[in-house]
Amino acid sequence: MEKVPFLDLATGNRQLHTELMNAAERVLTSGRFIGGPEVTNFETAFAAHMGTPHAIGVGNGLEALILALQAVGIQPGDEVIVPAHTFIATWLAVTRLGAIPVPVEPLADTMNMNPTLLAAAITPRTRAIMPVHLYGNPADMAPILKAAGNIPVIADAAQAHGATYMGKPIGSYATSCWSFYPGKNLGAYGDACAVTTLNPALAERIRRLGNYGSSVKYVHDEPNSTNSRLDPMQAAMLSVRLAVMDEWNARRAQIAQTYLTELQGTAVTLPTITPNATSAWHLFVVRTPKRAELEAHLAADGIETLIHYPTAVHKQKCYAHLAEKLPPLPLAEELAAQVISLPLGPHMPDSHVERVITSLRNFS
Ligand SMILES: *Cc1c(COP(=O)(O)O)cnc(C)c1O
Repeated sequence: MEKVPFLDLATGNRQLHTELMNAAERVLTSGRFIGGPEVTNFETAFAAHMGTPHAIGVGNGLEALILALQAVGIQPGDEVIVPAHTFIATWLAVTRLGAIPVPVEPLADTMNMNPTLLAAAITPRTRAIMPVHLYGNPADMAPILKAAGNIPVIADAAQAHGATYMGKPIGSYATSCWSFYPGKNLGAYGDACAVTTLNPALAERIRRLGNYGSSVKYVHDEPNSTNSRLDPMQAAMLSVRLAVMDEWNARRAQIAQTYLTELQGTAVTLPTITPNATSAWHLFVVRTPKRAELEAHLAADGIETLIHYPTAVHKQKCYAHLAEKLPPLPLAEELAAQVISLPLGPHMPDSHVERVITSLRNFS
């Protein structure tokens, strides 16, 4: 039986083969391998696409989160509010700077940061708030920004390229970190990322912090800076991918809509999208208390699934030392035990979508 892969990257690369090869050749013959017009051109196009005036290419998503937190002045001992239910990168950026992650439970339906609990978690020591647009579904930014007031908001948008909120690109609401990890909606050919922001001073500082603390060659202003830049090779390839991103996202949305309609009344809880938002449908995540059984049932039908994420972040070994200080996070733990991601991607054929639906309908 032909497998239904979780995500097929090869078909898209075949489709774009000529353009990607042309982009790579352009960089090779340019002789310019750090910075330069390929990076600037991509940054400009990406910023416009994400609804912001500034984009800064950086090395990867985790470094983007760290640089953005550094740029708003996060110091050791500062409190930074994070979702309890997220990928570990969001928390690691905080602890990497010696700051304290203050987790907030999700909303049970959208699985994103609960704005009411966020407001309650703010203390005089809160120095930043990090909503995550998990699975591509925007966090409810209006109440989050209202609760934040003057506290900087750094969004983890690593799964949300193309998502909108109240009719505008999600990047237009806050400084946002987007990963271009190969499997993301906008994927590179290795590690790559960009930060977008509405704030020119912040843009300038993030760029400096990722470039040896320097904005003028051999003048260095930031002792805690690093080297984290977007390569021209990745930028050139990403420019090719950006041009097809909306079209590929539209196919993702079409598949998600089919799942939402055809999986009604099955044994799983379907995803709920934040009101007034559209998801980038990075992942289609359903819930069931019988996850192991569902995983095995789908696998027996040749269908590949993944779990995002199997262990709640606060239950990771690296955060054992925080255990005593943290409030109970039962919802995050329940989600970690129940979520399972179905195959979804821009090149998934209808025949595979139908096989997932049929298999799930046979599961009880
Ligand atoms: C992928 C991802 C990241 C990290 O991105 P990298 O580029 O792989 O470092 C951060 N946060 C979330 C939610 C992600 O999905």
